[in-house]
Amino acid sequence: MGLIDEIKHMIYEKRDSYQALSEKVWDFAELHFGEVKSAELLSQALEDEGFTVQREIAGLKTGFVGSYGEGKPVIAFLGEFDALAGLSQKRNKTVHDPIVPNGNGHGCGHNLLGVGSLAAAFAAKEYLTKHQLKGTVRYYGCPAEESGNGKAYMAREGCFKDVDAAFSWHPDSKNAVQHLSSNAVIEARFTFKGVSAHAAALPELGRSALDALELMNVGVNYLREHMADKARVHYAVTNTGGVSPNVVQAIAEERFLVRSPKPNEVKELFKRVVNVAKGAALMTDTEMSYKIEGGCCNLIPNTALHQVMADLMEEIGYPEPSEKDLAFIKDIYASLGDNEKNFAKKFLTTEQRKTIDEKPIADWVIPCPEHDTFMEGSTDVSDVSWNVPTAQCFTSTWAFATVPHTWQVVAQGTQDFALNAALYAGEAMACTALKALEDPELLAEAKREFKERLDGETYECLIPPDVTPSSL
Ligand SMILES: [Zn+2]
Repeated sequence: MGLIDEIKHMIYEKRDSYQALSEKVWDFAELHFGEVKSAELLSQALEDEGFTVQREIAGLKTGFVGSYGEGKPVIAFLGEFDALAGLSQKRNKTVHDPIVPNGNGHGCGHNLLGVGSLAAAFAAKEYLTKHQLKGTVRYYGCPAEESGNGKAYMAREGCFKDVDAAFSWHPDSKNAVQHLSSNAVIEARFTFKGVSAHAAALPELGRSALDALELMNVGVNYLREHMADKARVHYAVTNTGGVSPNVVQAIAEERFLVRSPKPNEVKELFKRVVNVAKGAALMTDTEMSYKIEGGCCNLIPNTALHQVMADLMEEIGYPEPSEKDLAFIKDIYASLGDNEKNFAKKFLTTEQRKTIDEKPIADWVIPCPEHDTFMEGSTDVSDVSWNVPTAQCFTSTWAFATVPHTWQVVAQGTQDFALNAALYAGEAMACTALKALEDPELLAEAKREFKERLDGETYECLIPPDVTPSSL
């Protein structure tokens, strides 16, 4: 048996236990930094498999690392397990039907993400033992991907310092390596303090914090015209200062996300946003303060590892959904709007477009593109990728054109084909990691490229040293 067949066999032998773990995490549906039951469940599974588990790493209650083996190289698999608020949905239903109205749900498929990576770690461990290879396999339980940047805190504490290569994946509606970069982001809260007064009788004594907040937003909207194309700035008002129009608002608060392709650029742009806030405070005679509450770097892709991973995905082959799976997939597809479908179809070939309505699952593998692409969003995997060569893939865990963070993702999260796709990702990660472990040339090439892409820069966490999840 070759590497692929061995890994496939090792993973499929434990399919039932992966299904049980994934469904439990789906049921728990815990939010960022509150994934207590999910983290304990996965930690326990690691211990049962013979891994040594360190809980509460980097000061994170739900962050953990499971480790097996010894010495170099050290290969890491990254797992996530947080859900999203407001996306509760019954399993096996293809119409919107929450279990609890406004309850939590796994709208990004992180129940599958955590377990797919766990399967990769277990298979890599089994392969190391069977072939008596030297090296360490780690599973990083990374909390709060959706909101909180768990991996950035872990990277800030040096948790990835001795790792040689890291691997992860994300559920999607395509099979491809994530050969892309992303925006870096700074998340901050801005607070304006003014003076309250009767808005009709004594307005001259009032200093409106809400005016300041509105002027800051107007200023930022003007700033947008004069920032780089790929940069993004968005905000949410979290405190308007009250609901009474006849009271001059003495306090107002909002959260900003400022994004740019590089850490230095995002710091520069953030300074300009702060200047706008200062201007708004000056105009309104109010006081402004701000606190950086989170952030992460831009993603550094790795061609050497991605090329190998994409070839392995092709060789392993996407697991064909059953007839029962296909019926469910078709019903989910039918629930999607024309906008979603037409948008997703833009990325298909003419041939693929002909059959996708009939069989709405992307069962092919997209080859690794020659040049990496760019996404305007951000991910905390980036902070890992600034410390160690990192490879990631997507697999078709969702019906074609499914949009992340929707009830349709939650509904698909416990389906057989979704778990099979998660385990397919596990196989691709385990095989790529083991190739890197067994082939010093590949690992050396990945490291050379990693250095070249950093271009002399070193990792600096964008979250200030005094900020922790519990300090927010
Ligand atoms: Zn996600």
